[in-house]
Amino acid sequence: MDRRFFPAATMLLSMFSAVLVAAETPLWKAGMVRINITPREPLWMAGFAARHRPAEGKLHDLWIKILMLEAADGHRGLIVTSDLCGISKTTYETVCKELKRRCGLTRAQIKFTYSHTHSGPALRECLQDYYPWDEAARERVTRYTLALEQSVVEHVCDAAARMEPVTVWATQGTADFGVNRRNNRESRIDELLASGEPLKGPVDHRVPLLVVRGRDGRLKALVFGYACHTSMLALYQWSGDYAGFAQIALEERYPGVQAMFYQACGGDQGAMPRGTIELARKNGLKLATAVQEALNQPMRPVAPTLKTAFAFVPLPFERVMTAEDLKNFPNKNAHYQRWAKRMLKRLEAGETFPTSYPYAVQVWNLGGRQLWISMGGEPVVDYSLKAMKMFGPTTWTNGFTHDLTAYIPSRRVWEEGGYEGGYLGEYGLPAMRWTPDVEDRITACVERLVEQVR
Ligand SMILES: [Zn+2]
Repeated sequence: MDRRFFPAATMLLSMFSAVLVAAETPLWKAGMVRINITPREPLWMAGFAARHRPAEGKLHDLWIKILMLEAADGHRGLIVTSDLCGISKTTYETVCKELKRRCGLTRAQIKFTYSHTHSGPALRECLQDYYPWDEAARERVTRYTLALEQSVVEHVCDAAARMEPVTVWATQGTADFGVNRRNNRESRIDELLASGEPLKGPVDHRVPLLVVRGRDGRLKALVFGYACHTSMLALYQWSGDYAGFAQIALEERYPGVQAMFYQACGGDQGAMPRGTIELARKNGLKLATAVQEALNQPMRPVAPTLKTAFAFVPLPFERVMTAEDLKNFPNKNAHYQRWAKRMLKRLEAGETFPTSYPYAVQVWNLGGRQLWISMGGEPVVDYSLKAMKMFGPTTWTNGFTHDLTAYIPSRRVWEEGGYEGGYLGEYGLPAMRWTPDVEDRITACVERLVEQVR
């Protein structure tokens, strides 16, 4: 080889091999889309039984955000985050059935999450006894929910049609405002904080973060979780609570990015003090800053492989309600009386209540190393702390996915009793408590699914 051409030839060769590597390196693909779901007509807000009328205006818009991921072998995983308090089993089933028909997605591939904001719209059959609806209000809710279900399916198809090559990264940040609401009295919180005494009870302050970048390195999506009830605001204006403020802040800091929040295992976690827009905004900014700080640290690249598994685990009820129980139900709160009346009507119409509930559990393995466990309802924080011990410290676990089943206590919380230990009737179930082995049953199911994706 002529030495004069050698440097140029080498450069050409290395450029050629760089192109080859880029072309041959398997990549993820991703498609994203968002839906503005701010109601245009006066609808009831979800999550509190104490509201007396529909919403009046908004603090900010409400969104459903969709991210379809596709591994190098073509296997897809759908992440939906939403400014919703929860969805009923009927909505979950409807969306799954339509996504199967339209896009070929199975339950194992569908991660439909809700931030659990208590300032989003009430949906059909979800916490329905909370609200003193008349026929017209119920009809409006049904109409809105049906349109929302259809819109999600349409937009998932849209996202699936816009897939482009991306890289995916995993990391985590931390934010300290989540408080164990069972172990710290809200009325004493200012006093407790001022005393410098540490707050009590288990918490999970991690902010798990999945980052999607375009081939040019530009940020495209930030999917982040946190374990803390989005019930800081009990106003009559639509909002995503602190999580809404966090997503807005991130989308302002990183123009063009889709910021997607999901609720982790926050069944027994809350923010204190709360009650004002300023406090919700402050925690939202704290969470956004946690994400920003995590982004500035080195991240783990996630190889473009995806394994997904799903199962329904039957969770038995401790004692199924009889007509006699319902006629003499001791809790005289209006929403319990509405529930008892509705359930009694079902029994009188000849229905037999089931003795257990099919609880939805899903496990993903991204890149061979990142486990992501997603469960229905409102699991308490013990579930995520346990999963880290069992499967490693980078394991992500969230509730508030699939249908809003009910509170999901650990054995500890079940034995302690209290609000998160039972109260299944609030969710329209025909019982007040699970059997005490609820945690064992879920753990066994998660272990089985983790085996399947490893
Ligand atoms: Zn809740």
